Amino acid sequence: MKAISFSATEILQSLLEKKKTQTIRPMPKNKQPRFIFGEQAKLYWRQRSKFKWFCKKCGEKVSVVYTPRAMCPDCREYFGLFNKNLGTVQITEVFTITIQNKADEPWMYKVTEDSKEFIQTKEEQEIVKRDGFRTWVNFLSWFDIQYDLSKPKTFVVYRWVWI
Ligand SMILES: [Zn+2]
Repeated sequence: MKAISFSATEILQSLLEKKKTQTIRPMPKNKQPRFIFGEQAKLYWRQRSKFKWFCKKCGEKVSVVYTPRAMCPDCREYFGLFNKNLGTVQITEVFTITIQNKADEPWMYKVTEDSKEFIQTKEEQEIVKRDGFRTWVNFLSWFDIQYDLSKPKTFVVYRWVWI
C-alpha cells in the first residue's frame, strides 16, 4: 500500500483527531496523480524518520528508549506521544487546483482545458478546513513558504475517509 507522509505541525492536531480528510500535493511531473478514487493509503508522521514516537503538542521526535513518559525535548514537558503510523484511509476524491499568492487576484482556481474557474468562498473554506488549517491566511502562508506561490502552481487535492 502506498503511503502519505506529513510533517507540518500546523495540521498535526487535525491529523491526530482524524479530522484531516485531505492533502494537497504538487502535481507530479508526469501529470499522473499519485492516487486514484477508491485506493487505500497509509498515513505517517515523518515517515522517513527513524523515530517511532512523537510529541502530540509539537510533533517533534521523542526517544522512548528508557521510559514511555519521556519528556519532549522541545516542549520541555510531557504532552503524550503518538505513533508515527497514523492509520489507513480510502481515497474518495481527486482533483486539481491552482494556487497563487498575488495581491488583488483570487488565490485559488481550477483550470480545465478551455477555462479558468474561480473557486467559490464556500468551497475555499472547505478546502482549508479539510486540510487542517485554522484559517485561509494560515493555509496560504504555509503553502507560499513551502512552494513559492508568486507564480501560479498546480496541485492535486486528495480527499479520503478514515477506515
Ligand atoms: Zn513537544
